Amino acid sequence: MKILFIGANGKVARHFADIVQNHPTITEKAMIRNPEQQAFFDERNIETVLLDLSKNSIDDLAAVAKGMDAVIFSAGAGGKGLDKIFTVDLDGAIKSMVATEKAGVKRFVMVSTFRTGREEMDKQNDLRYYTIAKNYADEWLKNRTNLDWTIIHPGILTDVEGSGKITVGMGQDIKEIPRQDVARTIIAVLENNDTIGKEFEVLEGETEIEEAIQSL
Ligand code: NAP
Repeated sequence: MKILFIGANGKVARHFADIVQNHPTITEKAMIRNPEQQAFFDERNIETVLLDLSKNSIDDLAAVAKGMDAVIFSAGAGGKGLDKIFTVDLDGAIKSMVATEKAGVKRFVMVSTFRTGREEMDKQNDLRYYTIAKNYADEWLKNRTNLDWTIIHPGILTDVEGSGKITVGMGQDIKEIPRQDVARTIIAVLENNDTIGKEFEVLEGETEIEEAIQSL
């Protein structure tokens, strides 16, 4: 399975690259935006393409998505700056979805935020605009595309080593999850087509990742 990873230099994404470099069936094409990031992927024998979500066109994105079996979107502006929240988390995500369809690729895996929805968007906190952007990007994916989507809603991301065990579901109380386990969860989602059309929160937990994903 050939996948295009959008936001490939991110912290979750680098864990994904570390796992996938030795994966028997998944091959990554890494979309990065800075040539200095290329060495990390060269060392892992992973192909890179240089594109910027806020600058490149839908056609540019479609050209790199062509021939892929799946697209993963894990890019984000880090919650900093309304302009970037608009151009990356919201419009960058939607451009990626439109480009994926244009390229004739069906499978799309979205790394969203933990909680979206009206109540969350109305909270007067620092994450408000970011949450609104993620919410409507997810809505677009579910309601305005014919993609085979899965939406992953991770808890608070940490850089500790993953345990390989998670809890999945919706409506959970927020907890942490190691980025490494989010990367493993993305792999498990790609390997399980029963996750198509599903969204779920993922937190640190007690169930082996593959088993948790199968239970969805
Ligand atoms: P991250 O390290 O901030 O990675 C985000 C990636 O997006 C970076 O590689 C960045 O590129 C890329 N990006 C930013 N602007 C871009 C643009 N204009 N064009 C192309 N790529 C662009 O994120 P993470 O920690 O791996 O998290 C993955 C996802 O989970 C993010 O979408 C985040 O919003 C979401 N999330 C985070 C939390 C949390 O607790 N932090 C919780 C739930 C969900 P550069 O490397 O070049 O900067």
